[in-house]
Amino acid sequence: MPELPEVETVRVGLETHLVGRVITSVDVAHPRAVRRHAGGEPDLVGRLTGKAVTGVRRRGKYLWIDVSDATDRAALVVHLGMSGQMLIARGGAPDHTHLRVRALLDDENELRFVDQRTFGGWHLDDYTVDAYAPAGMPAADVPVSVAHIATDPFDPAFDVERVVNRMRAKHSEIKRVLLDQTVISGVGNIYADEALWRARLHGARIAETISRKKLRELIEAVTVVMAEALKVGGTSFDALYVNVNGQSGYFERSLNAYGRAGELCRRCGAIMRRESFMNRSSFYCPRCQRRPSDVESRG
Ligand SMILES: [Zn+2]
Repeated sequence: MPELPEVETVRVGLETHLVGRVITSVDVAHPRAVRRHAGGEPDLVGRLTGKAVTGVRRRGKYLWIDVSDATDRAALVVHLGMSGQMLIARGGAPDHTHLRVRALLDDENELRFVDQRTFGGWHLDDYTVDAYAPAGMPAADVPVSVAHIATDPFDPAFDVERVVNRMRAKHSEIKRVLLDQTVISGVGNIYADEALWRARLHGARIAETISRKKLRELIEAVTVVMAEALKVGGTSFDALYVNVNGQSGYFERSLNAYGRAGELCRRCGAIMRRESFMNRSSFYCPRCQRRPSDVESRG
């Protein structure tokens, strides 16, 4: 699954190439890629054809293209799945292997959805009122299928104090809470471990027992870690080619916790550890990130 920084890289690239363009025709090469569209393939093709792209938006790892006009308010929601790619190709360029959907644009380029495993796909969605908008601000609309997803730290509507409140209401492990897309969105396993290390918190600490100040630090850490990944991830669009599976480079260079079991903590020199967590792994420093039992016994 692509992480938020990779999806944001794709979003920026698509925004550059798509906004203001008109979709002149759509060709579905594999029906599985449009299986989520309630109206079926002819409805999807019919409603997309002739539409202008007015925006490309993202929340957490969810991406949608706004194709609203005066008579049809609609979002083209893109599921990248495990292996989905959104590519911009010159018209008439050889087809990509695993091409699933092609949309011709009025500038002679093509938007292509390529997906080897076809877990991903496109569907048109209605908009609904955003329940996560901050109090006192006009609520922007979000696609129905994205409405349950909380804002991510890069969203202008992201409200730190409300996220802290949601975290403090959870009687569960803080790492689990970080990965809960209804509390804060866009945080995957790797970024969670990096942020917990940065904030010196063990992932098994119970969220409701952590101070508001510490939770603010943790949210700040998540933001910094993902912003760093964004900085190195945002370079791949120049050649009219977006690859959401491309490693951003961040994962090799900048990790302080994830994948470092047995290596020395870059802050204190203790030997980093690995634990099983939800069928995956957690990496942490036993000295900087005290287990809950140690914290409690020290008061
Ligand atoms: Zn340490």
